[in-house]
Amino acid sequence: MRIVLLGAPGSGKGTQGEKLVAKLGIPKISTGDALRAAVAAGTELGLLAKAAMNAGKLVANEIVIGIVEERLEQADAKPGFILDGFPRNTEQAKVLDAMLLRHGQPAIDKAVHLQVEDEEIIRRLHLRAIKEGRHDDKEDVIRHRIEVYNAETHPLLAYYEAQHKLVTVQGVGSLDEIFERILGAIG
Ligand code: ADP
Repeated sequence: MRIVLLGAPGSGKGTQGEKLVAKLGIPKISTGDALRAAVAAGTELGLLAKAAMNAGKLVANEIVIGIVEERLEQADAKPGFILDGFPRNTEQAKVLDAMLLRHGQPAIDKAVHLQVEDEEIIRRLHLRAIKEGRHDDKEDVIRHRIEVYNAETHPLLAYYEAQHKLVTVQGVGSLDEIFERILGAIG
């Protein structure tokens, strides 16, 4: 199964993605995690990505597309995968579809939208700022990330809806409740 997780920052993609990994036995590919690892390791790629990330802007398409393509080629991702944080704009979504075709892999099966109200998103990101100290969880950066999500990533709902792949799940409730909703939605 090939799943794309969609939702605002703080909507729970990472957490629910991990639960899907455990349940389905396929890897999760998180561009956010990969980029943070590159920044921490001080690689060239990390240096290129760091400023955009800390400002709450999107990292250049070429960079994240390169990360995903390399990861999709690995053996454990051949039976399926869960994408968390990618695609984040229409260009990335189109490239992903083309990439799977080019690699002779089946297309995305489902795009799961975790729906959470803006106020709840802001509350969660503030909590995460306190707990994890992420550089991009500061007040003004949080606001900008939500703007970027609404402008660039939200249109992907229509993109996957047009492909009849979109399922929307309420992202509020206990972690297990939300997970059950996701399992129900992906069939
Ligand atoms: P969140 O979903 O909580 O906003 P992520 O961990 O997914 O955070 O991503 C953190 C940051 O990494 C983003 O704000 C952005 O700068 C960068 N990033 C992650 N994925 C992508 C992507 N697909 N395209 C561009 N930038 C990305």
